[in-house]
Amino acid sequence: MEDIIHLWDGEKWNGPITDGHIHLDRKGRCLDAAIDFESSGGTRLILVHKPNFSKLPEDIDDVSTAYSETLSIANEVIASTNIQVQVILGPHPVVWSHQIELLGEKRATELHIQSVDLALRFFETGDCVGIGEIGRPHFPVSPEVWKSANSMLQDILKRCSKKNAPVQFHVEDKGSLTFQELSQICSKANYPKSIALRHFAPADVSPSFTSKLPVTVSMGRGSVQKIASTIDVNLLFKGTHPPVLMETDYLDDPKRPGAVLGPRTIAKRTNELGKLLQIPKDEGGQGWKQEEISEFLWKIHRVWPDMLYGECG
Ligand SMILES: [Zn+2]
Repeated sequence: MEDIIHLWDGEKWNGPITDGHIHLDRKGRCLDAAIDFESSGGTRLILVHKPNFSKLPEDIDDVSTAYSETLSIANEVIASTNIQVQVILGPHPVVWSHQIELLGEKRATELHIQSVDLALRFFETGDCVGIGEIGRPHFPVSPEVWKSANSMLQDILKRCSKKNAPVQFHVEDKGSLTFQELSQICSKANYPKSIALRHFAPADVSPSFTSKLPVTVSMGRGSVQKIASTIDVNLLFKGTHPPVLMETDYLDDPKRPGAVLGPRTIAKRTNELGKLLQIPKDEGGQGWKQEEISEFLWKIHRVWPDMLYGECG
């Protein structure tokens, strides 16, 4: 702890930097994007499986090949950089909604569940640290599909609860209502909320908004201000605040280069957050002490990722 309190030096964060949700693609910048992350100060990636949306898997062998590709990218980053990489594998809810058109709902759902079970086998061997992105389509679908998506999600969570496997949710954004519904589905599936993380979360991190689910916040413009004004300081320094991670959701898609946050974003936003928190109260800031800022940033980039996904080896 003695060392940690100085990691924020008043200008810059000199501790670990974790991106809680990023994708890498061999057809994109891949290793070069990871090197960008590292040169900006990045130390740890939660690398989330990205399905090939232009050629959807038709059977479990296709899914298996695609998972292996993500694991091999992770190994390449580990071999070529000092970045720690932890992998999340799973079938994407948007893939499922497209597969319904191709395969019919019954077969699409079967394949989706098989894909979860396959990811869980990788979880048991330690090749991945969690299951994701799972959840619901983020765009409007028919009431029937919506109902199926929710019951399938409950089924997935039941399977994950048996292995105590953390999940990352990809869901629509209806503010706090989305969190309330996720929380209810977790309860019905007997799934522990402490490892039920919502990805691409809005920057309001107050436990009343998030229903106390862990989040990775999409670190776009304005996110730092919102985190600073909504973090529950009491819970934070008591050590009982639900985990808050930062993410880019970098897609590494050459066709959409400017569509998402770049791999250097988290380091930049971390320093912005530190500076904002230390501005004195009488100048309109939060007036946090150096050691408080250090403790918070340490939690974001080290303690909470460890709590969710285990320490890196
Ligand atoms: Zn993603």
